Amino acid sequence: MERTCWNTDLSALNINQKVTLLGWVSKRRNLGSILFIDLRDRSGLIQIMVKDADKIPDVRNEYVIQVKGVVSKRETPNPKIKTGEIEVLADEIIVVNTAKTTPIIIADETDALEDTRLKYRYLDLRRPSMQKYFDVRDQIKITTHSYLHKYRFIEIETPMLCASSPEGAKEYLVPSRIHHGSFYALPQSPQMFKQMLMVGGFERYYQIARCFRDEDLRADRQPDFTQIDIETSFLDQDEFLNLMEGLIKEIFKSTIGYDVKLPLRQMTYREAMDRFGSDKPDTRFGIELHELKTKVFKDSSFEAFQKADAIRGICVPNISDVTSRKVMDALNLEAKKFGLGGLSILKYENGELLGSFAKFVSEEEKKLLISEFDAKHNDVFIIAAGPANRVNPLLGAIRLSYGRQLGLIKPHTFDLLWVVDFPMFERDIESNKMVASHHPFTRPKDEDLHYLDTDPTKMLSYAYDIVINGYEAGGGTLRIFDQNVQKKIFNILGLSDEEVKEKFGYFVDALQYGTPPHGGMAFGLDRLAMILGDTDNIRDVIAFPKNLSAVCPMTNAPTKVSEDQLKELGLSLIDEGK
Ligand code: ASP
Repeated sequence: MERTCWNTDLSALNINQKVTLLGWVSKRRNLGSILFIDLRDRSGLIQIMVKDADKIPDVRNEYVIQVKGVVSKRETPNPKIKTGEIEVLADEIIVVNTAKTTPIIIADETDALEDTRLKYRYLDLRRPSMQKYFDVRDQIKITTHSYLHKYRFIEIETPMLCASSPEGAKEYLVPSRIHHGSFYALPQSPQMFKQMLMVGGFERYYQIARCFRDEDLRADRQPDFTQIDIETSFLDQDEFLNLMEGLIKEIFKSTIGYDVKLPLRQMTYREAMDRFGSDKPDTRFGIELHELKTKVFKDSSFEAFQKADAIRGICVPNISDVTSRKVMDALNLEAKKFGLGGLSILKYENGELLGSFAKFVSEEEKKLLISEFDAKHNDVFIIAAGPANRVNPLLGAIRLSYGRQLGLIKPHTFDLLWVVDFPMFERDIESNKMVASHHPFTRPKDEDLHYLDTDPTKMLSYAYDIVINGYEAGGGTLRIFDQNVQKKIFNILGLSDEEVKEKFGYFVDALQYGTPPHGGMAFGLDRLAMILGDTDNIRDVIAFPKNLSAVCPMTNAPTKVSEDQLKELGLSLIDEGK
C-alpha cells in the first residue's frame, strides 16, 4: 500500500512535504468543521488536521485509515509526543477498514481486568505501552546475537520433542501417534543437547530457546518461556562469568542506556542465605537476618528455642501496626506456609521490649537483643526458630515484603550480583529425598570430590546464578565431564545403574569419547525483558501468555480433544467422575 514513511519519521524538518501515512485512529476531536485525528502506527502518534470534516468519510476509533496530506507546523505544540511540533494537514482520508467498538480501551493506561486483556490480546498489544516491552525484548535478542557472535559462539537449534529427563520440574508430555504408549517430553531446557554439542566439538554454542515446565505459576513464571541458552568448552568459572557479565553489560546499555559496573560482585550461597534468607537476595536494602541462637538465646528457657536448630531474627524499622492482631495473624500464617509453628515478635518502645513473647525473654537476653539489632524506638524484632532451611527463607520472604511495603527499595535502581558455591544437593522438604540443587550434571568443586563417597551433602558445586533486583535472571554450572563421577551423582540421586543406563545411556557413554571440560548457563529472556521493561508482571513481556491458571484466554488452550484424536494416539481418558 502506498505509504511514504512512518509517523515518527516526521519532524519539523519535513514541513511542507507531501506525505501518505497509514495507521489506526487513536482519537478524534470534532471542533465544528475542523476535525483532529490522532493517527497511531507502530512508531507512535501524529496529529492529523482535517479542515472540511464533512468532506471526508466517517472515521471512528481504531478504523484503519490512509492519510494523504502536507506536514505543517502545529499552532500549539504537544511536548508529550515525539511529533508534537507538527501535524499533517489532510487532503484525503481513505478508510482501509472499519472497527467495532473495542472491548478494551487502546491507551497506555488501562483498568481492564487481565483476563479481558488476554482474551483480546490482539487489541491489548496495540497499546503503545505494551509495544514498548517488545522493543526491549527484541533489543535484548539483537544484542545477544551480536555479542555472542563477536566471541565466536554459534547458534544451533535443538529438538522440541525430546526424551523425558530429570531437571527438577514437571514435564509436558506429548503422546506418540506412531509408538502408542510412548511419549516425547517438551524440553525443560536444551541441557543435555547443549552438552552433547560440546562433545560434538562446537566449543561455544547458544540458542534463544523455548522451554517448557509444568509448574505452578507465579507473577514471574510461565509454562512456556524463553531462555538465552549458552554452553562453552575450556573456560573455568571466572573466565566464563567474565564473558557473561560482558553480555549483561551490553544488554543493559543497548536497551535502557544503563552502565553496569563490572566485575559484578560474587556472594556465596551460604552468605546469601544467612544474611538475606534467599539465594536471590535483593541487596538494595538492609533488614538483614541476624543469628540469635548462639549470640542471644544459647541458654533460653523457652522450650521451642532450646530445641531449635536455628534461631534468627530481623529488625524492621519503625512500623507501628506490626503487633496488631491482624498483622500478627498474617505473619504467623506466613510462618505456617514455611512449615513453622509461628513467629516470636517483640517491639522496642521507650527503651523496653514489649509483646506477649517478652515474658519468655530474660533481662540479659533482652539487653543482648537490643544491642545485636542496634535497636531504635519503634523497631520490631521478628524472630523465627526451627530448621535453618525453613527459618531462613521465611525471614527472607518477610524481609522482602517489608522492604517493599516501607518503600526501602529505590525505584529505577539496579542491583546485580552472582550467587556462587551452591551446595550440590538439597533435601526436598516434602519427600526428604536428596535432590540436585541445580541439575544432576553439575560439577562438584574439586576440593569437595572426596565427600562423594562419604558425605555428599557437604559438597559444594561450580554453580552460579545471576541475580538482578532479587530476581534469578539466569543460572548455570560447570558440568561433570568424568563418566564415573556422573554415574555416582545419578546413584546419589536415587537412580540405579540400570535406570542410568536406560535413561542416560547415551549421555554417560558420550563422556568417554574425549569430552572437553565445559559449562554454561541460561538467562531467562522473559525475566530480563521484565526487569529492563520495568514491569513486575512476566505476562507483559510475552505476546500470548497463559494466565495464572495456565490457560490462554484468547485461544482457550488447553482444550478438550475429540475421541477420534485420542484413539489415533492410543489414549483413553479416565472418567474422573466415577
Ligand atoms: N539448563 C539450566 C537451566 O535451565 C541452565 C544451565 O545449567 O545451563 O536452568
